[in-house]
Amino acid sequence: MGYNQANYTRIRKEYETKYLRAREAADLRRSEVLFAIPEMAEIDRALGKTGLVIMNAAMQGEDVGERIEEARLENQALQERKRQLLVANGFPADYTEVKYECPLCQDEGFYEFKICTCMKKKLVEAAYESSGMAHLLRTQSFESFDLSYYAEDPRTAAHMKRVLDITREYAETFDLATPANMIFMGGTGLGKTHLSTSIARAVIEKGCDVFYAGAITLLSDFEMQRYGNSAGGETGLGTSQYFDCDLLIIDDLGTEVINQFTATVLYNVINTRLSRKKSTIINTNFGQDELRAKYADRITSRIFGEYRVIPFVGKDVRMGKIHRNN
Ligand SMILES: [Zn+2]
Repeated sequence: MGYNQANYTRIRKEYETKYLRAREAADLRRSEVLFAIPEMAEIDRALGKTGLVIMNAAMQGEDVGERIEEARLENQALQERKRQLLVANGFPADYTEVKYECPLCQDEGFYEFKICTCMKKKLVEAAYESSGMAHLLRTQSFESFDLSYYAEDPRTAAHMKRVLDITREYAETFDLATPANMIFMGGTGLGKTHLSTSIARAVIEKGCDVFYAGAITLLSDFEMQRYGNSAGGETGLGTSQYFDCDLLIIDDLGTEVINQFTATVLYNVINTRLSRKKSTIINTNFGQDELRAKYADRITSRIFGEYRVIPFVGKDVRMGKIHRNN
């Protein structure tokens, strides 16, 4: 899937360094041991020889079972002798072995031609950080979306259950080949951020590149770029992530100041993502009529023509939480 390119490059580099460091450190420990235990050089040579015998025999293929077995036993005896010598001289038995952080991929980041689980974890963590919503991602998920806040009103409860199902399915079936867009509409505190965060989290864990920004942040990034600070912007990342990420979440659409520049940027982002077949989710406190009154038709027609409208209903659940906690 589409790991964030900058994250991927950085983490690959970290792995290369980690791998080399582990080998260098073991190399130093070996020198130290050879210095302290001169006899060790002989054992190392003998070990190298049995290793070669095993490799050559394996390459010749036929009828070498016995020779391999012999060399393997000799190899084992030498390893044992080595461990004994180390311990006898006050070293840990595995002192000269390379200590990889991940025994599975030996710090190469790949195991059986696939990205190792250890590197995948690093990529997901990095994606959390670069998503712009790290703090939310740690606490909000589909599992923590509590429908009982809506329980007082059965119709609202049924509606929000459906919204939860739709958003969960969106995340589960998220696929770069079939982009899908949604606009979450409804007042503050109805769970729009919670569910868009939950989607982000699930999509990041699939290995996709998600970027989240408030409309105001998005526009100020473009403004900074316009005035020559292309590498900076509020997010410090320039504006390319608004076009490149697999899923863009624009929070709080409608809170920004609309002028010719901001309207052009919004249209550009929405339209370019549609033509590049990239998924987008928009959160807004405004209703359809308000949005149509606020934005030019070319923007709203793209949104209402291409985005699935998900209305959020009910009372502010954050108020409910405060009452309940008291
Ligand atoms: Zn690994």
